[in-house]
Amino acid sequence: MNNIHQQTFSVTLADRAAMKQQTPAVLWFTGLSGAGKSTIANLVEQQLLAMGRHTYLLDGDNVRRGLCADLGFSDADRVENIRRVAEVAALMTDAGLIVLAAFISPFKAEREAARQSIGADRFFEIYVDAPLAVAERRDVKGLYAKARRGEIRHFTGIDSPYEAPEAPALVIKTEHETPERSAARVVELLLGDAGDGW
Ligand code: ADP
Repeated sequence: MNNIHQQTFSVTLADRAAMKQQTPAVLWFTGLSGAGKSTIANLVEQQLLAMGRHTYLLDGDNVRRGLCADLGFSDADRVENIRRVAEVAALMTDAGLIVLAAFISPFKAEREAARQSIGADRFFEIYVDAPLAVAERRDVKGLYAKARRGEIRHFTGIDSPYEAPEAPALVIKTEHETPERSAARVVELLLGDAGDGW
């Protein structure tokens, strides 16, 4: 890092945000596999698009096919996975976008690091909270069954920990609320807080 100096350029975040007429932000969805992160993020992005917002959805499964294809599920690899995603989300908000990030992101410290690199005022932590039993019953991808059979190691909730957020901006209990209602609450949170008046 010693010989690397930060360049300053003439076009700023404020310019890019103004052109898009929006306040850039990151909606960070965390929770167990199968909790409902992707389902809700997908609905939120559709609603924001319909409102003329400029968005991008970063999803765990997709990122692991490209940007993080070299990483596995050890603690160290999970940390690196979230570090890269947070940096990408930070760049995308700098570009003026509203970013939806749907990642299990099981460790508090990595979510905190994401908040720091993105900027606390732009980072909304959304805890998609489904009890393990509910997520496991859904078993959308059949992964819990595999983990229980020992075919997958280090599976969050089974043999790898999940550290729940202590003070998230929003908690969504997906066993008690429809995805549509949850998505509406996320949009309310964003627009209420962003205060950009349109
Ligand atoms: P994740 O991204 O957290 O791994 P997914 O969104 O891929 O989870 O899967 C969640 C599954 O749970 C989907 O099949 C979805 O249809 C189902 N589901 C049932 N009820 C809800 C709810 N209230 N909110 C979100 N998803 C729900």
